Amino acid sequence: MPLSEFSLIQRFFTQQRINNSSTLLGIGDDCALLSIPEGFELAVTTDTMVENIHFFAGADPYLLGYKLLAVNLSDLAAMGALPVSVMLALTLPKVDEAWLTAFTQGFLALAERYSVDLIGGDTTSGPLTLTVQAMGLVPRGRALRRSAARSGDFIYMTGCLGDAGLGLKIEQGYVCADSEAAVTRFHQPDPQIVAGQALVGIANACIDLSDGLAGDLGHILEQSRVGARIDWDALPLSDAVRAYIDDTGDWFMPLTAGDDYELCFTVSPEQVELLTIAATKIGIIESEPGLRLNKSGTIQPIEVKGFEHFS
Ligand code: ADP
Ligand code: MG
Repeated sequence: MPLSEFSLIQRFFTQQRINNSSTLLGIGDDCALLSIPEGFELAVTTDTMVENIHFFAGADPYLLGYKLLAVNLSDLAAMGALPVSVMLALTLPKVDEAWLTAFTQGFLALAERYSVDLIGGDTTSGPLTLTVQAMGLVPRGRALRRSAARSGDFIYMTGCLGDAGLGLKIEQGYVCADSEAAVTRFHQPDPQIVAGQALVGIANACIDLSDGLAGDLGHILEQSRVGARIDWDALPLSDAVRAYIDDTGDWFMPLTAGDDYELCFTVSPEQVELLTIAATKIGIIESEPGLRLNKSGTIQPIEVKGFEHFS
């Protein structure tokens, strides 16, 4: 007999310990209760993953659980917030205990790594849809906003660009040597929580790279009413991504592919020496609107949109 909604929640979601000091009350009542320390603000974000839109039918449930949480924690990282707790809304076509076991293992493995408590959610039946709401703490007035870039700021990013995009290509049939790291990158992005907090008080604008550098940096440019020039030669590309470009000629991929979940941020030149995290300088904010690419001395405009659901 399939589990009832109540026993499903009991079995899969109420077993973890409360790890985070901001959780006053977790799963079990009509609401959870959070404590916000003096001098902090609550940063809140939500992201949904829908079967056949965000992931393939039959996708590995452990990896889905991991990535669902990772993309939400990445949004908190991009604001400079320290994640404290999450809520999980699940819509399931049926109660598949093996699927739920693996899904919660992937989800809770990442949650425990960052002492993030699962404090509630909702469980309903319907087409497979996974939603997380994540909460984090950021020092009052210090959140890293997309609107805060200034002309003359240097543009930086953490990590490498395009590996998740290559991983997706490999999942779709592209064949290359050394494919494992790229595929892992696509399925298990590393939310840049430590980096995000280290940028509070140092970076001006910040965004996480979910839809591709061109589109995501474009959001900073629009909201800050500035433009930018990116230097192709400065982009941090892994050997695997360079080999992919040599093989296919598709040099645009790292600029437009999503899912890297690295942070892209701007820092005024006077603040650069305060940077404590590993990051690569990839360009500069300019007052002239638009995004330009300096490739082998030729400056060309790039116009790129991120993924849009209703177009
Ligand atoms: P209500 O009828 O008040 O909405 P529910 O029966 O939906 O309550 O949920 C009971 C408790 O279980 C609540 O604390 C809720 O937050 C929690 N919960 C339900 N579904 C999930 C889930 N998928 N993950 C975590 N907690 C859940
Ligand atoms: Mg409910």
